[in-house]
Amino acid sequence: MKYKAPRGTRDILPEDSWKWRRVETAFRETADGFGYREIRVPIFEETDLFARGIGDSTDIVRKEMYTFEDRKGRSLTLRPEGTAGVVRSFIEHSMGRGGRLTKVHYFGPMFRYERPQAGRYRQFWQWGLEAIGSTNPAVDAEIIHFSISLHDRLGLTGAEARINSAGCPTCTPAYNELLRKELAPKLDGFCSDCRVRYERNPRRMFDCKNETCLAILASAPSILSSLCEECASHFEQVKALLGGAKLKFTIDESMARGLDYYTKTIFEVHHPGLGAQSALCGGGRYDELVEELGGDATPACGVSGGVDRLIIVLEEQGLFDEEEPGPDVYVATVGDEAEALGAALVARLRGDRSVETDYRGRSLKAQMKEAGKLRARVCVIVGEDELARGVAVVRDMETRGQDDVPLDDVPAAVGRLLERAEG
Ligand SMILES: [Zn+2]
Ligand SMILES: [Zn+2]
Repeated sequence: MKYKAPRGTRDILPEDSWKWRRVETAFRETADGFGYREIRVPIFEETDLFARGIGDSTDIVRKEMYTFEDRKGRSLTLRPEGTAGVVRSFIEHSMGRGGRLTKVHYFGPMFRYERPQAGRYRQFWQWGLEAIGSTNPAVDAEIIHFSISLHDRLGLTGAEARINSAGCPTCTPAYNELLRKELAPKLDGFCSDCRVRYERNPRRMFDCKNETCLAILASAPSILSSLCEECASHFEQVKALLGGAKLKFTIDESMARGLDYYTKTIFEVHHPGLGAQSALCGGGRYDELVEELGGDATPACGVSGGVDRLIIVLEEQGLFDEEEPGPDVYVATVGDEAEALGAALVARLRGDRSVETDYRGRSLKAQMKEAGKLRARVCVIVGEDELARGVAVVRDMETRGQDDVPLDDVPAAVGRLLERAEG
């Protein structure tokens, strides 16, 4: 029997995992800079949380959830996105006490039963932010600013926001009716999914990926002309704030985002160098969701981005061209006595440096080749001759310069070389 990773999943191997760590570090540092603290919530939740939170009419809930019964017959679902679990936690722990604004970030795997294709997996990773507790359009602008800053930090400079409004419960019923009225004569041209969406929530038709459907929708009325006064004014303020922060943005009236919970601002961040699939992340405001999930009415705004595709984009753009970082030090020894001494040196150096050594009794030549392959920055060599003289050879692998150093002084000598290399 040969086991394989389940369809739609894959292993992230050591030769690639450093890229993931780099993205995760950039994300966490950017989130810290914007004042979003980390939250870690379960990978699975009660099925009803997602059905209610994401919306029964969405593709996610209708066809893509990994739902199972536990041994007591409770229906649980692997999280298909991050927001519902964070909101559940926000309510459960009364984080909004005293009208506080809660700002959190998360990073982790999500699960959706979709047809696997390049860059799309059934277990995929997302980074995300949620700001819960304010209607202020400055929060929307901050989250859009974050989304652009994160990609700047990763080297994908020049990302732009596309924004739209999803309206609110005051203005969307009339817009739904308008859409139904306008689209009714054209309904035969739509795919069967869209005809179901037409009945349940016609705005979801904008999620369709079918070219024919999108072509008909191009002439559908824009939600922006149906917004209530409050939504229209909020949208104007978001635009003014983005302009004031000198962030690049355009208005995209056909953008819908595939989730039912959005209200007011919705946005995506795109990179113009990426062709048709240029979206890097997306999000928006969800002022009704906290109440919908059983909390006090609390406005909120968030964003999430797919890490799997981001890694591919960074690879394609040559932003990982510098290779995986190597160890600081490689300790090479020849002979049993030197090996014992080398082990003691490795232990001392590992206190604050990454150190590699040989455990297979290979020749000095083979060890030096290994040190080069690993791209160690400094090599410490202890052979029989050095042992007799109480010294080690400390070699700068870049300049090839080397010195005999008394054994006790090796850590200090290594430290000086590494500092110079970092300097
Ligand atoms: Zn409205
Ligand atoms: Zn369709």
